[in-house]
Amino acid sequence: MKKILLVLTIFIAVSACKVNPFTGKKTLNMYPNSSIFPTAFAQYDQFLTENKTITGTTDAKMIASVGQRIASAAERWLTANGYPGYLQDYKWEYNLVDDNTVNAWCMPGGKIVFYTGILPICQGETGVAVVMGHEVAHALADHGAQRMSAGQLQQIGAVAGNVLIKDDKTKGMFNQAYGVGSQVGVMLPFSRGHETEADRIGLQIMAIAGYNPDEAAELWKRMKANSGGQAQPEFMSTHPSNDTRINNLTAWAPMAREEAKKFGVTTFK
Ligand SMILES: [Zn+2]
Repeated sequence: MKKILLVLTIFIAVSACKVNPFTGKKTLNMYPNSSIFPTAFAQYDQFLTENKTITGTTDAKMIASVGQRIASAAERWLTANGYPGYLQDYKWEYNLVDDNTVNAWCMPGGKIVFYTGILPICQGETGVAVVMGHEVAHALADHGAQRMSAGQLQQIGAVAGNVLIKDDKTKGMFNQAYGVGSQVGVMLPFSRGHETEADRIGLQIMAIAGYNPDEAAELWKRMKANSGGQAQPEFMSTHPSNDTRINNLTAWAPMAREEAKKFGVTTFK
């Protein structure tokens, strides 16, 4: 029986490998969009009912318009690289939530939240694009699902396609995996590898969307200055030191400009 189970597990694992179009790397993800997205969409809607969403302000409109540009850039990049339809199940949504926490996240399927607390560090549209590109990159590369264990995914019902998350503990697990929530102390950081990947992918997307990639390193300098050694949100608690991250982003900016050029983008805001 154990043997059969093992064979079955290997079979599922092998057949579930999918290529991450942004890195060309094969990643193990046993959970297709159709099983993760309904859970994510339901969680997102619930989050919005439990938190204060800001609508109609200049900031709220700006978050939505940057989000649309980033989503469109990701779409163009994927189509140009042989992945048309990669985002067909995405239902993009961009919301600004009234909360002093320095955070932002993107749930599977393009469900984005910015907290008002991160806006002073963004200092405007281009800074928002840096953060948005980074968070969208985590979602595109399935980092959230990858950082949950198979057991945890089973518990949230991803395997059964069960939309409802019944208890607080399971809900907390799901939210942690995707960086949701405002309780700084309980946030699970993405791994160093995932953070670096999201930085690199995000930088390309923002450049294709017409935002100056040099501003990415500047944003992280402000983030570093803001941290002050306190307990830190997802943005600061992650493994790459700020200096490594700033150095990487500075070194990659010319590459991102070149990538944007392929899409006819040569001027940046
Ligand atoms: Zn991140």
